[in-house]
Amino acid sequence: MLTDAHVNFSHKDLINSVDQLITEGREGGVTRFLAVNSNLYDIETDYNLVKKYDFVDLSIGHHPYLCNEVDEDNLEALLEKHIDTYKNKIKVIGETGLDFSYDVKPINQIKSFKLHIESAIKNNLPILIHVRDAFEETYNILSDYKSELKTVLIHCFTGDDNYAEKFVNLGCYFSITGIITFKNAEKLRGTIKKLPKNKIFFETDAPYLTPVPIRGEINKPSLLKHIVEYYSELTEEDFDDIAQISSKNYERFISCQP
Ligand SMILES: [Zn+2]
Repeated sequence: MLTDAHVNFSHKDLINSVDQLITEGREGGVTRFLAVNSNLYDIETDYNLVKKYDFVDLSIGHHPYLCNEVDEDNLEALLEKHIDTYKNKIKVIGETGLDFSYDVKPINQIKSFKLHIESAIKNNLPILIHVRDAFEETYNILSDYKSELKTVLIHCFTGDDNYAEKFVNLGCYFSITGIITFKNAEKLRGTIKKLPKNKIFFETDAPYLTPVPIRGEINKPSLLKHIVEYYSELTEEDFDDIAQISSKNYERFISCQP
């Protein structure tokens, strides 16, 4: 009973084998998936890839990487239109957020991020956030919307103890990736270990971030168990308990419960 809370099925490395990846994922214990849309203009593709699976949820959002040009009115109208069209499948707003390690103007990223937040509030949906080299700005923006926002997920969390604590205090959920298995992630492991057990779940972020010991291959949902195993050993917990707790946490996240 595992949940893979982030799969990029429309990525070129996965798009031609989605059915197989889902079948293998289920054989590997994954009973629930979140298919992440990160390009608003491609939502129909993402929807069609997974529409026949009722155990696969869909998100909708425009990644900060794609925010070089942001026409706010257009972005907002498109978001609302697509949410309405695919409302039976869409459970989450995102992937959105801030990534200042990337060569995209921060002002544009912030505009897009705020539009997504406002859409999440308006549609009563949880929000999935990507944050890299922009923890302070993300924290400040989320704090401004704290009373209105439902549940917030910091996906692939890579912050330090200080930001972990700040986002925990905002009530955020955290999804943990294969990065925790990487040799050079000693500091991150220390931080992840301290996150509250009722606020974490797991994701492959496939096709990216393949966990040890399969590094070098394309990541896929069937490899999620390696991440959960690693976390269970790290925290000296039972694998089945962690699988169950984390899947329940995901359920609460998408049902907008703290
Ligand atoms: Zn991301």
